[in-house]
Amino acid sequence: MEGKYQRRRFSRQPEPGDLLKRIREFTRALVEDLCNGRSPAISIDRFSNYCMNSDSTCCCSSDLPKGREILTCQRENHVHRMDVLLRVLLIVQKLLQENKHGSKRDIYYMHPAAFSEQSVVDRAINDICILLQCSRHNLNVVSVGNGYASELMLVMGWLRFSESEKKFGCINRPSTAYSIPVHVEEVKGIQTVKKHDLDVVSVAQYIIVVEKESVFQRLANDQFCNKNRCVVITGRGYPDIPTRRFLRLLIDTLHLPAYCLVDCDPYGFDILSTYRFGSMQMAYDAKFLRVPEIKWLGVFPSDSEKYCLPKQCLLPMTAEDKRKIEAMLRRCYLQREVPKWRLELEVMLQRGVKFEIEALSARALSFLSAEYLPSKIQGGIYI
Ligand SMILES: [Zn+2]
Repeated sequence: MEGKYQRRRFSRQPEPGDLLKRIREFTRALVEDLCNGRSPAISIDRFSNYCMNSDSTCCCSSDLPKGREILTCQRENHVHRMDVLLRVLLIVQKLLQENKHGSKRDIYYMHPAAFSEQSVVDRAINDICILLQCSRHNLNVVSVGNGYASELMLVMGWLRFSESEKKFGCINRPSTAYSIPVHVEEVKGIQTVKKHDLDVVSVAQYIIVVEKESVFQRLANDQFCNKNRCVVITGRGYPDIPTRRFLRLLIDTLHLPAYCLVDCDPYGFDILSTYRFGSMQMAYDAKFLRVPEIKWLGVFPSDSEKYCLPKQCLLPMTAEDKRKIEAMLRRCYLQREVPKWRLELEVMLQRGVKFEIEALSARALSFLSAEYLPSKIQGGIYI
C-alpha cells in the first residue's frame, strides 16, 4: 500500500465530506489488498517538533514528517494497533456522517475490552489525524466529555466574541472570568472594540497568558484589566488543545503581541515552550497550535535578586527538576530559535533554586499587577 497515501499539504482545514472521502479511499485500498491476497500495511508519517541534537542542522522547524512507521500483519502488536485504528475510524466515520461530537473518553467506552486503556485510543486518534491529514477537531472528537464549556481555560479583558448562538461580552466587565468554549471553530466575531454610538472607545493592546489560575484570579481581584487595556487567559497548567487554538485564533484575528507569565521552574518553562512550539505528542498538528510570536515575560531566575525576594521564597530544586532542565536544554529549537530563553534556563539550573509567580507577593499583595507587569510591558523587559 506504500505510495498510495503520498502526503499532500492541504492549506485549508478539510470539510466532513473531504474526510469521509479519504476514509472510503483508505478502507477501499485495505480491502483490495485483502481480496488480492496481499498482506495489508498501513504507512503512518511520524512528526517531531524537536530533537536532542542541539549542534546539528536538523529540520525540526519544518512541518514535514521526520520518517514513517509501517504497520504490518507480521507483528502481533501491529495487528492490535490496526484493529484499534479501524474500530476508532469506524466511530469517527459515524460521527462525521451524523454530524455529532464525541469525546475521547466516549470512544474508549465503546470497546473497552478491545482498547484496554485510554492511551491506546488517544494514539489511534493521532494516527487517524495523520492518515487523513487533519486536526482532531475535524474528526468531531473533543478532549472532554462535558459538551460545550471547557473546564480548563479562562479569559477576561477587552474582548467580545460569539460561539454558535452564545455571546461572550467580556469587554462589558473586563475583570470577570469567562470559560472558553470547546468548539473553537464555532468562535466568530472576535473584537476588542467597544462601541458607544459607533464611537470606538478602546481597544486591547496586548494579550497575557498566565500559567496558573491562582495568578489569573489575583489579576481579576486587582481589576488588572480595568486598569490595563489587555486580554488575559490561562490554560491552568499545561494548556489543552482548545486553549492553544483559541490563543492562536485571538492572535491571528487581533494581531496583538502576546506575553507569557510562568513560574520560575522546569514545569513553567515547559508550559511556555508548549505555547510557543507545541507539544511533541501533537507535533503533526503544530502549525495550527503553536504560537511563535509569544514572548516570555517572566518570572526570570534573575527576578529573585532584582526584586529582592526573601530567601524563604526560593525552593531548592529536586534531582528530578534538574534532570528535566538538563533534558530541555538539549532541545534543538531552543538554541536555534530562542537562545535567550536557553540562557535563562541555564541560569535556572546553575542557581539550583525555583520560585513561583506568587513569590512576588512578598513585596506587596498587588505588586504583580500594579508594578511588575506594567513596568515589564512598558519597559520591553521580555524575551
Ligand atoms: Zn531538531
